[in-house]
Amino acid sequence: MSENCIFCKIAQGSIPARKVYEDDEFVCFHDISPAAPVHLLLIPRKHVVSLQNVTPEDSHWLGRMVALACRLAAENGCRPGPQGGFRLVANAGADGGQEVHHLHFHILGGERPWQGRMAAIA
Ligand code: 5GP
Ligand code: ZN
Repeated sequence: MSENCIFCKIAQGSIPARKVYEDDEFVCFHDISPAAPVHLLLIPRKHVVSLQNVTPEDSHWLGRMVALACRLAAENGCRPGPQGGFRLVANAGADGGQEVHHLHFHILGGERPWQGRMAAIA
């Protein structure tokens, strides 16, 4: 828990969010400003600032986080198969466009076209 971190507060329950999943390690909830028909955020409960801060010792929980993201995409409206799919985005640092400094994966999916900032890579 880091003081003044919005995502730590969401994980803890002191700020409300539309949660779709939580366990001992991770919490997943709807982005407050969706950029695609499905737009979820998946975070570790542990306060890690960004992917810039992870080390090889983090590979086990990061692997579980990636696998969980794929499962939650399928369970929350991302369409299966080659016509469907989803985008997994982790913005890291200022150059990466990160605004909330608690590591998170954006899980984006649903029928295109999407509007706005997540519609294209650049
Ligand atoms: P970043 O730019 O850091 O990768 O993305 C941060 C994301 O968090 C943005 O898509 C933004 O809409 C979302 N966000 C910011 N504050 C809140 C909040 O209080 N609740 C929820 N659910 N999403 C938030
Ligand atoms: Zn945090």
